[in-house]
Amino acid sequence: MEKGLLIVISGPSGAGKGTIYRNIIERTDIKRSVSVTTRKPRPGEIDGVDYFFRSEEEYQQMIAAGEFLETAEVYKNYYGTPKAPVFENLRNGNDVLFEVDVHGAKSIKKKYPEAIEIFIMTPDFDVLEKRLRGRGTETESSLKTRLGSAKRELSKYEMFDYIVLNDDAEEATARVLDIITAEKCRVKNNTDIIQKLLNQA
Ligand code: 5GP
Repeated sequence: MEKGLLIVISGPSGAGKGTIYRNIIERTDIKRSVSVTTRKPRPGEIDGVDYFFRSEEEYQQMIAAGEFLETAEVYKNYYGTPKAPVFENLRNGNDVLFEVDVHGAKSIKKKYPEAIEIFIMTPDFDVLEKRLRGRGTETESSLKTRLGSAKRELSKYEMFDYIVLNDDAEEATARVLDIITAEKCRVKNNTDIIQKLLNQA
């Protein structure tokens, strides 16, 4: 039985999930899951730290070898979560945090229903558009694609356990940390401790 929590942060591109994810990794001892991608590294990104950057051929070999917990095509590139390190961490009692697209969140929930899934969204679509423009990484057409996808992704809200509106990254990070704390206090996640207390009584 896995002892750690598997926590998934998801939501549309531009909603700020990456910032929240990085804040939590920096400030807690929650483990991160490093994804594999066929996307080319952006300036400053490091192989093995930000992602494992692989060729499409290498990626297909990993799929064939059953190495992924989930894999999805996002904006013409493949992204996947390697399975082995995640379950090793969970078995050792470590919590693991993921940042994946909405398809990835759906496949993880299917394979691992105990996953705690948090949807990150901006308070409205104008803010989302501004953030995407502000990144300066999108062309006009990729911007339109991402805004269209955001609406479809939001319509999948029912599969998520929580929604956090990201107006301010610090506040949103605090809310996600509160959710994690509440989940850690659930009775079902503390049966060992309760049993130990009962044995003392
Ligand atoms: P980016 O290329 O901007 O780093 O990420 C693009 C999208 O891919 C983001 O929405 C991010 O959450 C998602 N993504 C990153 N890693 C994974 C993964 O392992 N699986 C899935 N399904 N999506 C991922």
